[in-house]
Amino acid sequence: MTELNTDVIELHDLCAYSINEKEVLSEINSKYNKKWVVACYPRAIDNMFRQNKIDMDKYDVLNFRLMSSDQIKEELDEKQEPNSEEAVYEVKKNSLKVPAWYPVIDEERCIYCGKCARFCVFGVYKFSKKSLEVVEPLNCKNNCPACGRTCPTSAIIFPRLPENSTLSGAKPGKDEPGVSAAPKDGLFVMLNERNKTRRNIFKNDVMQLAEDEKRKAIEELKKRAKE
Ligand code: SF4
Ligand code: SF4
Repeated sequence: MTELNTDVIELHDLCAYSINEKEVLSEINSKYNKKWVVACYPRAIDNMFRQNKIDMDKYDVLNFRLMSSDQIKEELDEKQEPNSEEAVYEVKKNSLKVPAWYPVIDEERCIYCGKCARFCVFGVYKFSKKSLEVVEPLNCKNNCPACGRTCPTSAIIFPRLPENSTLSGAKPGKDEPGVSAAPKDGLFVMLNERNKTRRNIFKNDVMQLAEDEKRKAIEELKKRAKE
């Protein structure tokens, strides 16, 4: 990256800057016309900026989970506007003392059922009819993606989840339940009933996993309180 003839700002890390020291992102936004954000899934980044009211325009996301560093460099070499002055390379560390682990809501997929808010016992969400907010992101327990598993429309993203899945920001597959209306003819109803039975078997396992993760988070909290 240092060989690029354009300014590079390495942020540790973008999830943290999106909730703490947001002014750094505002400065970058106003200083540069076009930005390339080398991060994870675009769906995670776009929704994270929106949720945290980050004003970032004219940016493209290059996904380091799916692209090698050579591919990223190649793409940047092709697209960058060369800097006439000497290119700047800066490393910035956020002052947040705890991991920036929190849920990001994909607004286009959320149907405001409130399941996530009822499931979480740590006050991360504020839910009311037709509105869902992540009000206390830092109350979320590190590595707990439990409520994301309970969401019926795969609308919850944990950008730092170390797996390539819908839950970490990949685009939901075509078989995953979404919010678009489906045709309601006889064949569709029959197939849907069959799928529901299969999904229920799968869902029971997923719900069990979510409950286990929640229990683990509560136990860790109790342990820490005793220390
Ligand atoms: S991941 Fe766990 S702690 Fe975080 S919001 Fe969901 S249920 Fe709450
Ligand atoms: S569970 Fe999913 S669909 Fe329901 S309110 Fe939460 S994010 Fe939205």
